[in-house]
Amino acid sequence: MFVEYCVGLSGLVASGLFIYGLKAMSSPVTAVAGIVAAGYGMLFVVAATFLNLFNITPEARPNLLVNVGLGVVALLLGSLWAGWRGRTVQMTSMPQMVAIFNGMGGGSAAALAAVELLGNHDIPLLPLSVTVIGALIGCISLSGSLIAWAKLDGRIRKPFRFSGQRAFNAALFAATVVLAVLTVMRYATPSAELPRDLFFGAALLLGVCMTLPIGGADMPVLISLYNAFTGLAVGLEGYIMNDPALMIAGMVVGSSGTLLTALMAKAMNRSLTNVLFSNFGETGGSSKGPEGEMTAADPADAATTMRYGASVIIVPGYGLAVAQAQQKLYEFVKILVAAGVDVKFAIHPVAGRMPGHMNVLLAEAGVPYDMIYDMEDINDSFATTDAALIIGANDVVNPEALTDKASPIYGMPILNAYKAHQVFVIKRGSGTGYSGVENPLFFQKNCTMVFGDAQAVLSKMVEAVKALGST
Ligand code: NDP
Repeated sequence: MFVEYCVGLSGLVASGLFIYGLKAMSSPVTAVAGIVAAGYGMLFVVAATFLNLFNITPEARPNLLVNVGLGVVALLLGSLWAGWRGRTVQMTSMPQMVAIFNGMGGGSAAALAAVELLGNHDIPLLPLSVTVIGALIGCISLSGSLIAWAKLDGRIRKPFRFSGQRAFNAALFAATVVLAVLTVMRYATPSAELPRDLFFGAALLLGVCMTLPIGGADMPVLISLYNAFTGLAVGLEGYIMNDPALMIAGMVVGSSGTLLTALMAKAMNRSLTNVLFSNFGETGGSSKGPEGEMTAADPADAATTMRYGASVIIVPGYGLAVAQAQQKLYEFVKILVAAGVDVKFAIHPVAGRMPGHMNVLLAEAGVPYDMIYDMEDINDSFATTDAALIIGANDVVNPEALTDKASPIYGMPILNAYKAHQVFVIKRGSGTGYSGVENPLFFQKNCTMVFGDAQAVLSKMVEAVKALGST
């Protein structure tokens, strides 16, 4: 009785911590506290799972030691691996890590469903159907996330496409649904095994086939969608296992993942069907390339111009994260601010390689939150700003998205950096951004390129403005 009470209470406490954690994660100020709170929530439910062992009936005890042993080994392996990866992962490799962790969640939900379906339990029709739906979603999330990981990690370099692919995927989806129905109908009969096994195989294949053709800038939306799938699958399996904490955790992840997917698709001005079925980035650029020549300057000249300007808006992008130049950047900013320059940071919702990437990077360097502005709050200010300083960003400031209907990024909202009186761009060469699209901004008359690695260029800029002193 006491154990049951404790287990029930731990589920309630954990659910509260998950919800609080998620809420806190929505602001950079409270995000770390939110993650820690959600971590404690997980700790509670894991402890409760072990406590629950005392509730197991004597008939089930013969396998108890083996099961507990396996559980402890899994827990140790999982914690050690995840702890090590969490500590050592580079900021730029975070999306891959999110993809693989998410895949593991989907796989766990599918494994729970498999245990239910493989066991000789007597499952009524409704829970049985829910189990099969959870298995379908979990399998898609597992295999899809693994392919997404391979793509983001550069192990699969190009989208895999062939003619008739959509029809093939639609047929595979239909076949998976038929096998799911057969699995439900034949459950507990001797002929149930074949459709069930084929169903799991088809669901895993479906995740692979759905993900292979998707490329370019659509990967973040897809990962977020799989995150929502994992949450849903976990929630459904929580319902089957009569576990409120699992149900709530799954639904929190499922609903927040769905909202995030919708927000990201909106930030790129694309519908979800467009993301899943339109082969973004296939054309690799607009019909005509940008005209004109790029103008280059050295870091000291660019820094001096900004030092004597009245206002600067900084646009950080993926290259800043690659160069790990956020500390140097903030050092530069502090000197400008001390000299009376009004400095603001402008963050595009998909700058970098995952949602919030730039916010985390700037927070790491100690940039105060009141200097950081979202796209919709700052876009009107570019036209009245002396200088825009773009560091390792490309797609998110590409005006082609506003003007060229032939461009694959047409319609994606951008930061209006091109409207600033003077634009400085720090990047290593004339290469394109993530989407593979040329950026006409770099050829504009008001734009000056400062070529080099962001860390090296910013170091020279800091030196240059320091040398100017307070004059
Ligand atoms: P981009 O990938 O468009 O551009 C990054 C630029 O950084 C490149 O042009 C590169 O140019 C430059 N760069 C790379 N390394 C360095 C370095 N060491 N020093 C200086 N510059 C460097 O990045 P954005 O942030 O502008 O755009 C994000 C893109 O990624 C969008 O297309 C978005 O949709 C996509 N995406 C976003 C995700 C998200 O959730 N935020 C997830 C996945 C993709 P060069 O090689 O010449 O140096």
